[in-house]
Formats: sequence, structure tokens, C-alpha cells
Amino acid sequence: METKAHLRRKIKRIIRILEKHLGIPVRRNGKKTADPLDMLIATLLSQNTNDTNSYRAWKKLKEKYPDYELMYRARISSIEAAIRTGGMARQKASRIKTLLRSVKQRYGTFSLDELRSKKDKDILEELTSLNGIGVKTASCVLLFSLDRNSFPVDTHVHRILNRLGIVRTRNPEKTFYVLQDLVPPEKMYSFHTNLIRFGREICKAQRPECYRCPLVNVCIYGQKILNKDDQGKSNTANKEKRDFMLLDNVV
Ligand code: SF4
Repeated sequence: METKAHLRRKIKRIIRILEKHLGIPVRRNGKKTADPLDMLIATLLSQNTNDTNSYRAWKKLKEKYPDYELMYRARISSIEAAIRTGGMARQKASRIKTLLRSVKQRYGTFSLDELRSKKDKDILEELTSLNGIGVKTASCVLLFSLDRNSFPVDTHVHRILNRLGIVRTRNPEKTFYVLQDLVPPEKMYSFHTNLIRFGREICKAQRPECYRCPLVNVCIYGQKILNKDDQGKSNTANKEKRDFMLLDNVV
């Protein structure tokens, strides 16, 4: 069992290697931060689809309903039609309506601006107590919208961290709680963003390309895999597709 100090050193090393390989992601890159409620809904739309499709769904939804009062009053079938490109449209439309109802009941308005003055821990608690909002979504709001240092863990980040041997956890939520204490706060944005890109380019779910991975020397899974001879090479990921991040484009 590795100590926390050892894990912190290993994480710092991985962050450095990823930054060397993929660059240092620029936070906001000159864009204003997204409204927290926009971010919640965009994150909800991003579930079980890719960022390009969910971004299309998001744009259509906002074009059709420029304000949340209109969206809240709309029929589920009408919201569903607007977000069809994002997949699981019926389910997501229904979740959007439920979320808007919870926000209105809690804050008396369709706005989460009240969160801006609160502490990270309290925001996380408040958001996850809203209907259908998990820690990953709440952490995305903290990082991308409220400009706080939080480290969201989705299924891809969870997979890579387990392969690397940083954690041995069963689900992203468990990984999230372990990692908050291990990643340097000022590197949370960089590490999260680069892991997402890295998962698309090299450490893919089905066929991780360990033979060309810059992290292979620090990776438990990679060391095992490289000892086998059946690693096939697959196509290089399309860079533009790899770099597109929905949550960096919600404005
Ligand atoms: S060595 Fe393989 S499993 Fe490990 S991080 Fe790299 S691609 Fe993923």
C-alpha cells in the first residue's frame, strides 16, 4: 500500500509528463465563465454521449429556450425534440424539468448565483442535494463555472487512475473523494483536462495504446500489458476531436 506522500509525488510526476505531452491547458482561455445553472444542464446533457453531440444539443436547447422560465414551462416532449442530438433525449428532458423545479423551489429563482459566495465544500453539498446531481456534475460546476479548484472524476478519469495504480476504486464517486486530497489544487484544472484528452488519444477504454504511452513507466497496467505480445496499433486520434471540450465551451 502506497503512502499518501508517495501518491502525491507520483501524481505530480504524471501531471508533469502529461503537460509535456499535451501542453498546459489554459483556464478559460480568455472566455468568461459559464453561468452555474447553464453548466449543470450542459453537464447533464453530456452524459452518455460525446462532447460534440452534447454541445449541439445544448446550443439548440438555448436557442429554443433563451430563458429558464420558458424552459420550465415547456412540455417535456418539446425539450426532448430540442436535445435529440444528445441521445437519451426523453430521459434528459425529464431530468432538466425536475432540476429546474428543484432550483426554483430552493432558491426562488432560476439562478444559482447565490452559490458564488459559499465555500467549496458547502457548494458541493448543496448541489448534490439537488435532484439528480452527482459529485461529478457538482465538481464540474465548481471547476468550470465558479472558477474553484476541484477535480471532477468521470468514467474516463476513473479508468485511467485505476490503470495507473493511483487508486483501486469501484466507481468514479469513490475516486473523486480520494483524489481531492492528493491533487495539488492549482493543478486540478490541468490534470482533469489533460486526463480527458489523454483518454481520447492514448488510454482509451477498449484498447489503450500502452506501446506509445508517455506514462508507461509509472503505470501498473501498462507494465503488465507490455509484457504481452498482442498489442495491436490503432489509428491516431483526430486532434481536433480530441481537444474539443464541451465544458470549456458553455458560455
Ligand atoms: S500505459 Fe497503457 S494503461 Fe497505462 S496510462 Fe498508458 S495507455 Fe493507459
